[in-house]
Amino acid sequence: MKPAPFNYVRADSIEQAVEALAGSSDGKVLAGGQSLIPLLSMRLAGPSLLVDINGIAGLDEVRADSDGVHLGALARHADVLANTAAREVQPLVAAALSHVGHATIRNRGTTVGSLVHADASAEMPLILLLLAGSLDVVGPRGRRTIPAESLYIGPLESSLEHDEVAVEAFFPALPPMTGIAFEEVARRQGDYALCGVGAVVEVDGGHVRSARAGFMSVHDVPVVAELTEHLAGMSLSTQEGRVVLEAAVEHAMGALDPAADVHASEAYRAHLARVLAKRVVAAAFSDATHRAA
Ligand code: FAD
Repeated sequence: MKPAPFNYVRADSIEQAVEALAGSSDGKVLAGGQSLIPLLSMRLAGPSLLVDINGIAGLDEVRADSDGVHLGALARHADVLANTAAREVQPLVAAALSHVGHATIRNRGTTVGSLVHADASAEMPLILLLLAGSLDVVGPRGRRTIPAESLYIGPLESSLEHDEVAVEAFFPALPPMTGIAFEEVARRQGDYALCGVGAVVEVDGGHVRSARAGFMSVHDVPVVAELTEHLAGMSLSTQEGRVVLEAAVEHAMGALDPAADVHASEAYRAHLARVLAKRVVAAAFSDATHRAA
């Protein structure tokens, strides 16, 4: 199918993009187009205006500082993945990004676009939430920072106003003595995952100090479970630690609401969430132990 007719503005500046959006009740930003264009072509979305931000200079920055990784709105997934400094400062970003789509999708799709698109089956919204990152947006009322915890409000729905442009995402750096892991199960390499889980574990003297796990594709928004109260003081490489981890994961399952679709039943998605959560929390513990050594 072909998209319904729409007006098109190629913005040269953020201000111009914001002005164009503010003048329309249903305008949409066009970034990599890897989600928006299929939606238009299938007529699942029909905005009267597209505001193309690809001509705005300086939005493609990938910057890794000691505080974390900063991504401009036009940083393509592939550019982020290829950035070795970003990988060192926060390895969970690259660990999850390598599962996003295929190479051609990653060459064009932007990480910030994925954050705004707010698909609960997408990797990067989960990672932003798990790392307690944030998104900077600019609108007619100025610039503001949205913490990840208040960004995702429903399926494909973020808390951006219709006239705001996301300009920069921030993923905090990996703290010392901390490890990460990410795993997902998809029907084919590059497909959206049936379930994905990431974990961040901090250790102290070979025992857990803090732990959290995040789940995608098992709720209508990404979900992060705080596991510290269950796991603090445990070594997850012991039998006792594994038993406690199993109970902690069972507790986290209470916050999930896996749905059935043509690819997986509710029960199968829940099974994947359980298995992957145990695996990635243990792997993040092991990663933290190695980094701390
Ligand atoms: P666009 O498609 O341009 O925009 C998406 C939405 O975000 C639109 O509503 C747009 O208005 C809004 N938007 C984008 N940027 C901004 C901004 N700066 N400010 C305000 N609003 C903005 N993604 C995954 O996470 N995992 C996958 O496994 C995966 N597989 C894919 C497989 C295929 C075959 C395809 C086609 C896509 C896949 N994607 C996957 C999606 C891909 O990651 C997209 O790149 C991403 O979801 C959106 O980024 P984009 O730059 O293409 O955004």
